[in-house]
Amino acid sequence: MAEEKTKTALLREELMYEPKGVKALSAEEIADADAFCEGYKQFLNASPVEREAVAYTVAAAEAAGFVPFDPEGSYQAGDKIYLVNRGKAVALAVIGKNGVKKGARLAIAHIDSPRIDLKPNPLYESNNLALFKTHYYGGLKKYQWTAIPLTLHGVVVKLDGTRVDVKWGDEENESCFCVTDLLPHLAQEQVTKPMAKAFTGEDLNVLVGSRPYAEAEDEKELVKLNVMAILNEKYGITEGDFLSAELCLTPSFKAKDIGFDRSMIGGYGHDDKVCAYPALMAALNAKDVEQTCVTYLTDKEEIGSDGNTGMQSDFLRYFIYDLAKLDGVEGYRALSQSTCLSADVNAAFDPTYASAFEAKNSCYLNGGVVISKYTGHGGKYDTSDASAEFMGAVRSMLEENGVQWQIGELGRVDLGGGGTIAKYVANMNVDVIDLGVPVLSMHAPFEIVSKTDVYMAYRAFFSFFMQE
Ligand code: MN
Ligand code: MN
Repeated sequence: MAEEKTKTALLREELMYEPKGVKALSAEEIADADAFCEGYKQFLNASPVEREAVAYTVAAAEAAGFVPFDPEGSYQAGDKIYLVNRGKAVALAVIGKNGVKKGARLAIAHIDSPRIDLKPNPLYESNNLALFKTHYYGGLKKYQWTAIPLTLHGVVVKLDGTRVDVKWGDEENESCFCVTDLLPHLAQEQVTKPMAKAFTGEDLNVLVGSRPYAEAEDEKELVKLNVMAILNEKYGITEGDFLSAELCLTPSFKAKDIGFDRSMIGGYGHDDKVCAYPALMAALNAKDVEQTCVTYLTDKEEIGSDGNTGMQSDFLRYFIYDLAKLDGVEGYRALSQSTCLSADVNAAFDPTYASAFEAKNSCYLNGGVVISKYTGHGGKYDTSDASAEFMGAVRSMLEENGVQWQIGELGRVDLGGGGTIAKYVANMNVDVIDLGVPVLSMHAPFEIVSKTDVYMAYRAFFSFFMQE
């Protein structure tokens, strides 16, 4: 016979808040999460850089019946449209029964990730080795990018205006590239330096060749010449074409299941493809929506959201204005009634680095999708601090739809901090809150997420879109 609960126990149950933790999911939900993540791994492998994520998104959207947006066109409830910004950002919209007259529902994730970009004039030869000079993109711990295989992705625009897509190092038997590190035997000076000084940005030189050009009549820079000959044969480019190029080095390893229980995924670029993919899938699966639903995948978040493909550009604002015009309402009125889930990752509590976190307000792997009321640093600077009202609405929406969720701050107060695109969305007079997936080893070449958290992110975006 079950023991009767004491009055104190009942009161405790009624009044105290217990986060649901990691044990609340059914076997069916876990199986759904595992299946969902097979698609996610494909997206992640196909999209190391933002242009590739856009291409993947457009192909998936077209297959699901989305068509390019025509500002002069006319649209009805249920129509599905997309609009690409310069090949690096993309908005998908499912037109709602009310259009944007009562505002739009926005889910916004970023599809750029920390990486190593080539400098405009990258190629040089030193001591019979050919190397690339680089300039890192986003917040890196530079030592993590040494001694791992790297691939080269991006575009080169030639003097005649033609564009060449570059992709080297992904295939199993294709060569790749590497930043070298100093052997421990000779690193007695290096290992006693502070981490930031032991390996600097100018040390991120990438090894790309070592054999001299074979048919040479002199001995000048033959290893470099040989590399250029190979690139010219494959892509038709010359050294000057590097000046008008965007070439990025990213880890060459594919996404892998992690753990004996296969509960996690390790891979490059979870931040923030792990929110972009669920937001994309929510747009593809949303139907009969009340308000127009927009998934926007933006660029440049890792370097401050500046630039015309970043969240600070007017691209999304103008897209909403165009939709509002079709509905016969002012764009600013549509925006001021809109709501947004800023879909970005948060740092999962890591027991190895427990002192960096405050346990009661951290998010945990397998705890579900994480809501961050604010991000920022040093006393809530540089953030959109979501209102209690909007926080309350999102909390109710998640509970009503059975979405596993948790609350999370980014680490302990005054240790550091970070931001998301939420504050730029808030500047458009939109109610916005951060909601995304907890990540271990964030910004490392190989980041880790939990499969059920990825699936809960999808459930959160889908429920948000499908609200009455
Ligand atoms: Mn992010
Ligand atoms: Mn980031």
